[in-house]
Formats: sequence, C-alpha cells, structure tokens
Amino acid sequence: MLHQRNVKIVLVDVPKHVNADFVEKAAHFYAATLLPKLRRRITVTIRWTYSRKVIGTAEVEFDPTHPIRDFTIIMRGKSRGWLMYQSLAHEFCHVEQWATGRLVEVDDKWVLWEGKDYRWDIDSLSYWDLPWELEAMGKEYGLYAKFKAHYGLKGKDLKALTNRVRNTDSTPAPI
Ligand SMILES: [Zn+2]
Repeated sequence: MLHQRNVKIVLVDVPKHVNADFVEKAAHFYAATLLPKLRRRITVTIRWTYSRKVIGTAEVEFDPTHPIRDFTIIMRGKSRGWLMYQSLAHEFCHVEQWATGRLVEVDDKWVLWEGKDYRWDIDSLSYWDLPWELEAMGKEYGLYAKFKAHYGLKGKDLKALTNRVRNTDSTPAPI
C-alpha cells in the first residue's frame, strides 16, 4: 500500500455502501502522491454526511491556525463509486495546498495563494476561476486514474470500490 506515514487517515461514520478498505487505500495513495515530502504529522479525518449544507460532492474543513494539523474531509453520503473517489482526490489536492502553505487563509474571504492576495466569495461564480480550484479540478481525475492503475482496477472492477447495498426492505416475491 502506497503510504505517507506522516499523514494519519481516520474514517468516521462510513455508510454501508462505502467500501472503507478502498477509501483508506485511496486516501493513503492520494496523500503519498501529493505530499511525498511532508515532514510534520497531519491527520485527515474523512466523514460522511447526508446534510444538504454540503454544497458540492465534498468539502474540506480545518482550524486555520498555522501550521494546520487537522483536516476534515466531508463526503456527501449520496455520492457513489468513481465520483466519490474523484471527489476525495479533489479534496486531497486542497489538503496539499493548505498543508504546504501554498494556500494560506487570512480571513474567511481573503487568502494568499502562492504569496498573492485573493479576495473571494464561495457563493459567487468566481469559484470556477479560483486558481486553487482550477488546480484541484485539473488533478482530480488523474489522481483517481493513477489510484486505479496502482491497484490494477479496470472499469469492470469499479463495483469493488463500492459495497453492494442489500435491499432489506424488499419482501420475497409471491410464488
Ligand atoms: Zn475544491
């Protein structure tokens, strides 16, 4: 398993349809690929929610005190299969940006991106043009593709990434 020993991965509230083993493998793979030289220890907690407050498929939270040690990636409970793994890759791109200090929060609408001032508003359309988002959007699929290749997963194996959900509500068909 590709592993960055300074990045601790914690999974919380894993839904039944999610294959926790593969999520953990993917998280270690993304951390090791994006942060191979990280010397200090960080913890990335991945938890799932069904709350509608999460706007996209996932988001990352942390206490902006520097250096940031604890990150929480919040995954939307409804996201499935490859999309979940690609969203996780996207959020790990942000973990890398904050953990290395390439992205620094000044206040909640003001950041420094590679030393340059950025005022921004998450609710505005400028979200799609923010350089750290463009970078994460550009890398997310490639990271996921590398993860798949690393574990020799082909398209037909994708089901292995997600647990099969047994439909417990169904009653046997009348004979
Ligand atoms: Zn993003």
